[in-house]
Amino acid sequence: MIPNHRMWDYDLVKDVFNRRDQDCILQIPLSSRSNCDTWYWLPDAKGIYTVRSCYKWMDIISEPPGSGVWSKIWKLAVPAKIKNFLWRAVANVVPTADNLLSRRVEVHPYCTICNASLETTYHVLVDCPFAKQCWMVSLVGFARNFVNFGAWLDALFIRCSIEDSCLAAMVCWGLWQNQNNKVWNHVVGRVSQVLNKAGQDMPADLTLGSVCWKRPRFGWFKCNVGAATSRATARISYGAVIRSSEDNFLAAKCGSLIGIFEAREAEALGVREVLS
Ligand SMILES: [Zn+2]
Repeated sequence: MIPNHRMWDYDLVKDVFNRRDQDCILQIPLSSRSNCDTWYWLPDAKGIYTVRSCYKWMDIISEPPGSGVWSKIWKLAVPAKIKNFLWRAVANVVPTADNLLSRRVEVHPYCTICNASLETTYHVLVDCPFAKQCWMVSLVGFARNFVNFGAWLDALFIRCSIEDSCLAAMVCWGLWQNQNNKVWNHVVGRVSQVLNKAGQDMPADLTLGSVCWKRPRFGWFKCNVGAATSRATARISYGAVIRSSEDNFLAAKCGSLIGIFEAREAEALGVREVLS
């Protein structure tokens, strides 16, 4: 760390550690306060571990999908073919290698993207390193250790908003198309392609870009913050503008921080910097 700056020393980290360790270190957000490090139990809002919260978490990650997941799929504001695909994925009837082999179709059993695991629905859509990267870069985020795709989707619907659930459905479809593109056309896709396509195919009334600026209440100020991440330079950049209820410009700020973060973390760090 840079002394007294609460910031990673990027050059030093780059010189001392290999690429994998550099990424791991730079993904650790640094607190702006002088608190000591403590253990934090993620499934509890206060970070305190209890047996009860552990059982609750185990229920979430190990339960087969309840009837709720089916109705939530049909309520998603996404094209019918995507709902149909999710329904088939939860029922585990999409033609992945393990399903084809169980029907005596002779295919290569391993994932065509990573070639490191059996090609199952859960692997292709969640656990494959390529899928993980997509989820980690997307607004949806990544959660793991579920028994099957249905349980994973069920938990996603619980923790995500309707907009993010729709985006997740589009990303699932993109991952499946990417897998097929590799199998049939030998085309290796990129994370950005899958995510861009998912964002473009979202219904117009759900796309994030359709949100318009609204004036705050009379006498109030509004601060809008935006952030962008760059893995190549291991930095996030943020910008903010404050406007009054009369739509007058009052102040603006921009800056950058060292670290590798997901989009949502970058936005949160941008808000923190602007408020500090
Ligand atoms: Zn894979």
